[in-house]
Amino acid sequence: MPMNRGYADQHCSLARSLEVVGERWTLLIVRDAFYGVRRFADFVSHLSIPRAVLSDRLGRLVAACVLTRAGTESRPEYELTDKGVALWPLIYSATMWGDEHYAPRGPRRLFRHAEDGGPIDKLGRCETCSELVPPDQIEISPGPGHSPKLDKDSVGIALREPHRLLEPLDLSPSRNTATTGQSRRAAKAPRRARAAP
Ligand SMILES: [Zn+2]
Repeated sequence: MPMNRGYADQHCSLARSLEVVGERWTLLIVRDAFYGVRRFADFVSHLSIPRAVLSDRLGRLVAACVLTRAGTESRPEYELTDKGVALWPLIYSATMWGDEHYAPRGPRRLFRHAEDGGPIDKLGRCETCSELVPPDQIEISPGPGHSPKLDKDSVGIALREPHRLLEPLDLSPSRNTATTGQSRRAAKAPRRARAAP
């Protein structure tokens, strides 16, 4: 059930934040944007979210300047703005909380500092260099709780390989790569061999 609306009149900053990101699906969409999902169809296939709900949530996130809509009219792409990227600590903390309390087989994803490979602790610090790691320096990879059987969509398959946050996932072989992060993505091109589960 969607939450009742009406936080806008609250003076509490948490309530105002929840007005933007507190509805069901919204943080999962933002999380996927960190993973590099950009296109409507890819959000749908990875989240199994109803299209009408996704359309509504994307519209709200764009209106709130959390996402920006780029690409073409017929092939829009949604990217996090700086305001959206600032939500990373929220996403990360909620993920760590879920890993601790609701992941009996262990974390589904592991987070490492891409610069030195150090694991990132629950507070977001690299255990090797002690720095607070910004999302564009974080590399994710499957953890012990990851189940390839459940990740059969193109996003899930792409994320079976290590991937740096905020870099677009290369999901369509025919896609014209006119976006940022092209060089690193090109370097990771072999992971697109989808046949190997
Ligand atoms: Zn480090």
